[in-house]
Amino acid sequence: MFQLQQLKISFENLASDAWAKIRKLLPIWGFPAILISLGLIFLVIQVAVTAGGASKPAKAYKPEWNRTANEAAGDTEQAVQAAAQPAALSSASSSAVLTIPTTTPVQGSTAVDSVASLSPGSAVPGPNAVFVFKCYGRAHGVGMCMDGVHYRAEAGQDYHQILNYYYTGITLSKIDDSMPVKVKGHDGAVRTMSMHDYLMKLQEEPNDSPMEELKCLYVAARTYVLSCRVRNKHQGYDVCSSGDCCQAFDENKSVANYPNNNAAVEATAGEIMTSEGQPIIAAYCGSCGGHTDNNEDVWGGSPISYLRGKPDSYCAQSPRFVATKEISTGDLSGRVGVGELKLVDLSDRTPGGRVRTAKFVGSSGTKNMTGKALAEMFGFRTPRIEYSFR
Ligand SMILES: [Zn+2]
Ligand SMILES: [Zn+2]
Repeated sequence: MFQLQQLKISFENLASDAWAKIRKLLPIWGFPAILISLGLIFLVIQVAVTAGGASKPAKAYKPEWNRTANEAAGDTEQAVQAAAQPAALSSASSSAVLTIPTTTPVQGSTAVDSVASLSPGSAVPGPNAVFVFKCYGRAHGVGMCMDGVHYRAEAGQDYHQILNYYYTGITLSKIDDSMPVKVKGHDGAVRTMSMHDYLMKLQEEPNDSPMEELKCLYVAARTYVLSCRVRNKHQGYDVCSSGDCCQAFDENKSVANYPNNNAAVEATAGEIMTSEGQPIIAAYCGSCGGHTDNNEDVWGGSPISYLRGKPDSYCAQSPRFVATKEISTGDLSGRVGVGELKLVDLSDRTPGGRVRTAKFVGSSGTKNMTGKALAEMFGFRTPRIEYSFR
C-alpha cells in the first residue's frame, strides 16, 4: 500500500507539470477528454498494483514474537502449523528390506548445526538397549530463529547483518512511521494510531534484551503489519493484539517502563524488509535447533525466495536448545506396535534436518510415522530429532 501511495504522488507531480503545457495547446473541449484519459490510466495502474499484491504468496502461517515472555504462544503456533500437516500415523504392510548405515548414532553433541551430523537411524542392538532421543530447537524452524538472534546480538552482530542472514536476498526499505495503522485492542475496539505508537505498545521482547535483538524485532514487527495489510489478513483492521495470531500488543502498556524497547523503535524508525517491492512475510520461530528450513519443506506451497533454510550455530548456546527423552526398546516397541523393534530409520528429513517420515521395522511388520507424530510421541516441539543408545 505504501507503494501505491508513492505511485500516486509521483503521478500527480507528473500530471501537474504536463497540465501547464497541454493547457496552451488544446481547445476547451480537450480538457474533459484529457481528464478522463488520466483517470483511466490511474485506474489501470491501481488494478495492476492490487493484482500484484494479491498474487503474493498468502501463507497460512501464524507468527508471534513472544520468544521469552510466552513460550506457550510458541506451542500454539507450532500446533497450528502441525495441524496443517498430513495425518499422523500410517501403517505400511510387510517388512521391506531396509539398508541403513550401521554407524552408531552421534552421541548428543550440542552443536548440531549440520544436517549431515544428524543420525539417520540404525539397527536396534538388542531388547535391553535404551534409546536416548534428542530434539533440537522448538517450533516450525522457518525464517528468523529468535534464540539465534539473541546470541548473535550478544556476539556483537548488528541487526542488518542478522536480518540479512535469516532472510535471504531482502531489501531494507523505509516507510514513514506516522502512517496510520488500524489495531484491534484487547478490549475488542479498533483504533487507528501511528505505526510508531503501535510499535511502542508491542509486548514482545523484554526490555533487558540486547539492543540489536530489539532492533531486529521492531524491523520485523513493522514489516509484519504491512504484510498483514497486503494479504488482508484481517477484515476492517490491520492487526489484532494476540501474539498467537499477530503480535502481542497491549493498548494499556506503560511505555515508560521500556526505555530500551522504545529506543529500538526510534533507532529503526521506518525500516522494513521488502522483496520484489512488497513487505516480506517475516516468519520467525523460537529456536531452529541448528538449521532453519525452506518454507515449502515445512508448510508446503510454493517456495518463497527469502524463506530459505540456513545453518545456525548460535541458538545452540541457549540452555533450552536440546530436549532429551529416554525410552527402553520394550516401551518403544509397544508404542509403535510392530512387535520387537529391530530397526529405526530417520533418514527421510527436510533439508534443515526435520524428520519427514520415521520408519520402524519390527518382528511383526513395518510402520511409518510422520515427523510430527514422532515429536508428539515424546512431547517434543519440533521433529528435528535423532537418538543414540545408552
Ligand atoms: Zn491477528
Ligand atoms: Zn537457530
